[in-house]
Amino acid sequence: KQTLRLDKILSHMGVGTRSELKKLVKQGRIQVDGKAVKDSGLQVNPDLNVIEVDGERIIYREMIYLMLHKPPGVVSATEDNRDRTVLDLLRKEDRVFNPFPVGRLDKDTEGLLILTNDGPLAHDLLSPRKHVPKTYEARVLGRVDEEDIRQFKAGIQLDDGYKTLPADLTILHHEETDEGVYSSISLIIHEGKFHQVKRMFQAVGKRVVYLKRVAMGDLQLAADLPIGSYRELTAEELDILR
Ligand code: URA
Repeated sequence: KQTLRLDKILSHMGVGTRSELKKLVKQGRIQVDGKAVKDSGLQVNPDLNVIEVDGERIIYREMIYLMLHKPPGVVSATEDNRDRTVLDLLRKEDRVFNPFPVGRLDKDTEGLLILTNDGPLAHDLLSPRKHVPKTYEARVLGRVDEEDIRQFKAGIQLDDGYKTLPADLTILHHEETDEGVYSSISLIIHEGKFHQVKRMFQAVGKRVVYLKRVAMGDLQLAADLPIGSYRELTAEELDILR
């Protein structure tokens, strides 16, 4: 592995800006291999050299991979003038990696959202040619039935004329209420058109009132991850995505 400028490494790890790092160096608070550094532009090898700030070791890494249980009410963008974004849910020490959401969930949709700064991985997961399956659970106003399953399998014509790829619809249960019948369903789609799940049900005269993504490819939303919180992917989970 190649060497990098010390200040580049430390700013990437969120220790401070270039000018703040210059100050820390001047104050003798940054060590490489046990010796106080004199130049914040020193070339170091983050895999071989031991870097410390105030005696605390800094472990450098380039990439970050997060699993977020997205709550409703936040948008899956990196910036928004009106709404809170998923980045606002991250701790400062994770935001310094500049992660971005892999694909989008609607503001009112919950569930699995991957955030990473690994552009190539994100690109692969989103590539229309790869057809990475996405699994959703939804509550739908209307009685979802066998005919819907058949139509979803055959492909649904959306409002813009697009015909969806075959999708696997499973009926979990029906619930009779004063407002009518609600259906709980699970759906696997192999693409990600704008508002796709909602528009597929709209095309068969039904309305999605609750939507949650539970898996992307073989990666499941962790059952013990509370809504609104996140954690790093484990090595096993990362392998699943790759
Ligand atoms: N389909 C939708 O309609 N909304 C989402 O957020 C995801 C899939």
